[in-house]
Amino acid sequence: MEIISRKDAKVLGLKRYYTGKACPNGHMAERYVSGSGCSSCVKERSKHSKNKKSFKEYTREYNKKYKNNLSKSNPHYVTQSAELYYTMHKKEILKRQKEYRNKNKNEINAKARERHRLAKQEKNPT
Ligand SMILES: [Zn+2]
Repeated sequence: MEIISRKDAKVLGLKRYYTGKACPNGHMAERYVSGSGCSSCVKERSKHSKNKKSFKEYTREYNKKYKNNLSKSNPHYVTQSAELYYTMHKKEILKRQKEYRNKNKNEINAKARERHRLAKQEKNPT
């Protein structure tokens, strides 16, 4: 790669320039005249975002399959376990809920009032 300053590249109408210096991530790569981003960094970023997406999709598919299998083998499994948990820890759960409510009384009341106000507004737009 030929070393060319951003200014010169711009004058020549090039899209990329090369300073011969490494980017903050250590790439010895060309940089874009627009935005001055390192081309390797840009490539890596786009790769990562693609991976992220496919990973998300993969998880979604996996969950779908997993849930399907689960519901096929035992359709009541999910609700059963939640109910079982509740029955076993009822006292603790109720206590925790009560504590939470007491602790955040003002906040909860304020939120409830706000919801009520918004619902009213939606019904009677002024
Ligand atoms: Zn870079």
